[in-house]
Amino acid sequence: MRRRVSILGSTGSIGQNTVDLLTRQGGVESYDVVVITGARNTERLAAQARALNAALAVTADPACYDDLKARLAGTGTEVAAGPDAVIEAAGSPADWIMSAIVGSAGLSHPLAAREQGTTVALANKESRVCAGELVHARIAKTGARMLPVDSEHSAIFQALNGEAAKDVDRVILTASGGPFRDWTLDQMACATVDQALAHPNWVMGQRISIDSATMFNKALEVIEAKYLFNLAADQIEVIVHPQSIVHSMVGYADGSILAQLGPPDMRGAIGYALNYPERLPLPVDRLDFATLATLDFHAPDDQRFPALRLAREVTRKGGLSGAVLNAAKEAALDAFLSRRIEFLTLARLVETTLERLPYDDAASTAEIGLSGVIDADRATRVFVEGLIADGMR
Ligand code: NAD
Ligand code: MG
Repeated sequence: MRRRVSILGSTGSIGQNTVDLLTRQGGVESYDVVVITGARNTERLAAQARALNAALAVTADPACYDDLKARLAGTGTEVAAGPDAVIEAAGSPADWIMSAIVGSAGLSHPLAAREQGTTVALANKESRVCAGELVHARIAKTGARMLPVDSEHSAIFQALNGEAAKDVDRVILTASGGPFRDWTLDQMACATVDQALAHPNWVMGQRISIDSATMFNKALEVIEAKYLFNLAADQIEVIVHPQSIVHSMVGYADGSILAQLGPPDMRGAIGYALNYPERLPLPVDRLDFATLATLDFHAPDDQRFPALRLAREVTRKGGLSGAVLNAAKEAALDAFLSRRIEFLTLARLVETTLERLPYDDAASTAEIGLSGVIDADRATRVFVEGLIADGMR
């Protein structure tokens, strides 16, 4: 059966992997591509639109409209531009939607799925971190289904398959530890942007690579796990596993642990969400246990990576604390990327913001609504910029 698919953020790392899988699984022979979206990389967006014969290609940047239009002249692909056009396109009827726009720019897109029976493959973390209850309530109301795309949550989802939620004791998220796993605090104090971008195992977008270096990526995943699997803060553990082979685990009441393993290749998790509930052949390497040598595990270090401590705090508090953590992290990350702050200041800025900014951590985001979440996001960014202006470097 032909499926209608959309890819929000198709030009990014997750988006390109998704396009790769669609192409290998028959491309235009198997899929009607409804919408693809990108930002300034119009060359890639246009090439994808041609290869997939997309009905609509949207750039988030209005200044790129003419260029994209020219590149797609003579094709059947419609062109649109601007943030509102991306949101509108996200609501176009489709059977399967990949939501892979990075950052809080992707906050509202998963909410746009309007149809009963649509599957939203949710890669964007920020929507769940900032507005977990809201996203889940909205998707449940429309009758859409959400599948996790992150390798850790996909692993947990797979390890929960066929089990009763009441029997779950805990989940254990694995973390590679990032490029600074074995660095001392003194070394981390001098870390450069290039060093932070050099992830040992995974090839990913720029922002998520820095998030791995600070371990804010794992912090976001802890918060997401709470909403995705309906867990209490003390049921979510993190363990450092440098080889990134065990993607995560679920511990059950009887002491058994179920794990999902695979090579570090996002096409595993993306393909699982694309073909669910089937398992179709995927172009990922097969694990050879005879040559794997060792799988190591050790406890994360809260001293060097305060992000994990902050995630536990947010998981306990709820409300807008996730939106504040995320926006503070994004603003601090921008400041680090533009070389305005030191590496260790990134986490300090987030911690100070969570301590000092007054925000509502009692009400659920389902009650607060999207505009309240966006307001908190904006106020947080202003607050962080104020801290930097006051000398936190
Ligand atoms: P990326 O930076 O490679 O790509 C991001 C995409 O979003 C691009 O298509 C870009 O054009 C688009 N985009 C950027 N700013 C935008 C804006 N303001 N409006 C509309 N579109 C915009 O990011 P990525 O690594 O593919 O990650 C995408 C999401 O998936 C992130 O939320 C990330 O945390 C999550 N994720 C990524 C990985 C991974 O391995 N890359 C794994 C798990 C989860
Ligand atoms: Mg992950």
